[in-house]
Amino acid sequence: MKTLGLLGGMSWQSTSQYYQLLNQGVAARLGGLHSAAIIMVSVDFAPIEKLMRAREWSACSELLVTAAIRVAEAGADVLLLCTNTMHKLAPEIEAAVAIPFLHIADATGEKITAAGLKRVGLLGTRFTMEEEFYRKRLEQRFGLSVTIPDKAERQLVDRVIFTELCRGEIRAASKTEYLRIIVGLADQGAEAVIAGCTEITMLVSPEESPLPLFDTTRLHAEHAVNFALARES
Ligand code: GLU
Repeated sequence: MKTLGLLGGMSWQSTSQYYQLLNQGVAARLGGLHSAAIIMVSVDFAPIEKLMRAREWSACSELLVTAAIRVAEAGADVLLLCTNTMHKLAPEIEAAVAIPFLHIADATGEKITAAGLKRVGLLGTRFTMEEEFYRKRLEQRFGLSVTIPDKAERQLVDRVIFTELCRGEIRAASKTEYLRIIVGLADQGAEAVIAGCTEITMLVSPEESPLPLFDTTRLHAEHAVNFALARES
């Protein structure tokens, strides 16, 4: 089994889900007492969030590149960046390490394509929804058409992520708002919705979603388990 390298802590709420999903995935495939081989560097999110808000991306990149190098030097065979948003810095991080980098949007795009879907709604932080790094990858590599909520809705989705979900707070009123926004994406023609932030399924589960919901945390973890066990299966 290959050793999975996690760059986590953004936020730790979802990194703890990665840890569970990876171990459950390996146990389901290998049985018995098998569990995932994992090396993790988990960062302090508060200073990073401040830098993001100030759009100090080169300082963010420096911190994350340093952390990624620590993961690789500790002996990981592959790197997972456990957040969608920070994939904005994927090119720099990927270039700094010699081990393969499993991109979260690729894990997601592959699954959506395999399901025969083309038009998807995207929920995530304002960076993930509004900037090109995530949407363009889905459009160019997977031929998907990506719809995002309107400005006020994007602000709400982003605020809930940073002020509630990343702090482990689950509020019924926010769930109602998210469900309403997903219905709005369906009205705009989306056939499915991407939970493009690793904390979103803490609030809305696939069972509750009015559209098929693609959980990036789960898909990224599944992708990693497949990588770890490639020779064993
Ligand atoms: N975990 C979130 C994501 O998947 C948001 C927190 C962050 O900005 O890293 O985008």
